[in-house]
Amino acid sequence: MDFQVSEEMRVRLDMISEFMTREVIPLEGELLHGTPETLAAGVAAAQAKVKQMGLWAPNHPVEFGGLGLSMVDHGLFAEAVGRSPLGMTVFGTQAPDAGNIEILHKYGTPEQKDQWLRPLVAGEIRSCFSMTEPETAGSNPTLLATTATADGDHYVLNGQKWFTSSADGAAFAITMAVTDPGAPPHRRASMIIVPTDTPGFDLVRNVSVMGHSGSGHASHGEVIYHGCRVPRSNLLGDEGGGFVIAQDRLGPGRIHHCMRWLGIAGRAFEMMCRRANERVIDGDGSRLADRQVIQHWAAELDAEIRGARLQVLHCADLIDTEGAKAARDEISAIKFVVANTMLKAVDTAIQVHGALGVTDDTVLAYWYRHERAARIYDGADEVHKTSLGRRVLRRYAMP
Ligand SMILES: Cc1cc2nc3c(=O)[nH]c(=O)nc-3n(C[C@H](O)[C@H](O)[C@H](O)COP(=O)(O)OP(=O)(O)OC[C@H]3O[C@@H](n4cnc5c(N)ncnc54)[C@H](O)[C@@H]3O)c2cc1C
Repeated sequence: MDFQVSEEMRVRLDMISEFMTREVIPLEGELLHGTPETLAAGVAAAQAKVKQMGLWAPNHPVEFGGLGLSMVDHGLFAEAVGRSPLGMTVFGTQAPDAGNIEILHKYGTPEQKDQWLRPLVAGEIRSCFSMTEPETAGSNPTLLATTATADGDHYVLNGQKWFTSSADGAAFAITMAVTDPGAPPHRRASMIIVPTDTPGFDLVRNVSVMGHSGSGHASHGEVIYHGCRVPRSNLLGDEGGGFVIAQDRLGPGRIHHCMRWLGIAGRAFEMMCRRANERVIDGDGSRLADRQVIQHWAAELDAEIRGARLQVLHCADLIDTEGAKAARDEISAIKFVVANTMLKAVDTAIQVHGALGVTDDTVLAYWYRHERAARIYDGADEVHKTSLGRRVLRRYAMP
């Protein structure tokens, strides 16, 4: 394990951190209190500066203007920009586009790359990923019910999806649908590129989540596909290859998510410690930080965040040196460890802020609402624990 950061990467990380503090964190006021228009204007201005600095979408492949970062560097970048809910968007690496870019790069035909990948990397269009259905368990995608039936040179899609995040305003969806119901479970489904202006692609609503329906990128769409007809050339990868592509999309994506969550945990922790040092709670001038209970919270969180961070960097290093398959156990472990560490950091920071913590005068309540889902998407805690637990126990099986 070698977590040495190259001098070049260190310089980039310093630039990113400085930009986050100077330009991105102050924009949070627009996110929490502004209008979608004022926020969009602020984000666009910051994006233009990031492009000028040569730091746009650094995790993307070199041939598409990225820096071709290693998994460890990719993680450190996600941690730095994760300190604000706006960081990923300002740096051009927001979900679900980042994952779609990875699979289009790996599986797209030259025509698909020209039409969809190039403008996506450049930030000219947005995309969405349409797999989960309200009526089937997302934790087991072999149960998917949406179909894509071949009809001459076209596929005709029928079905209902939800949590197609960012469908509102997206140019296209990458949709997972059953192309061969008679095939073995993991060969039944395929990924298909569906332009959102195709007749029969109906975004019926932005699902309200924690009190907000959201709009644009910050939304979770319910989409009905009825008789939605797309050319067969829109198939991504091979027919029946949907599960392999979905796995490919999730592997590196977990490093990305986990390090972004550590960015959140780190900032929430700093806010908590600052507040504890400032807040006078007694006539003798003593402060929250003088109370043992707060000291214990600080100690526990500090240790947990450090431990989680080392686990993710170790996992990233293993992917870099031995590949994602060798890091299977580590990938499962970081997903539930880091999601829970981040949520504990946000919750504890809110507690230390008292009533202020639940207002929208700080970013903490925003994270509390929006990041609870971390324990559900990309594999719920229980699913990862079951698969890791099985493998761990097998190591000690009776001969
Ligand atoms: C904010 C957010 C954004 C999302 N974005 C997208 C997106 O862009 N595109 C997309 O396609 N999907 C997206 N999803 C959907 C997400 O991938 C699914 O919610 C997830 O796969 C779980 O599926 P489900 O909701 O159907 O829950 P279920 O599969 O019904 O599971 C419910 C619960 O049951 C438990 N459980 C499930 N399986 C097991 C098991 N084997 N053993 C023990 N317990 C189990 C877990 O506690 C789980 O949380 C998003 C979800 C959220 C919340």
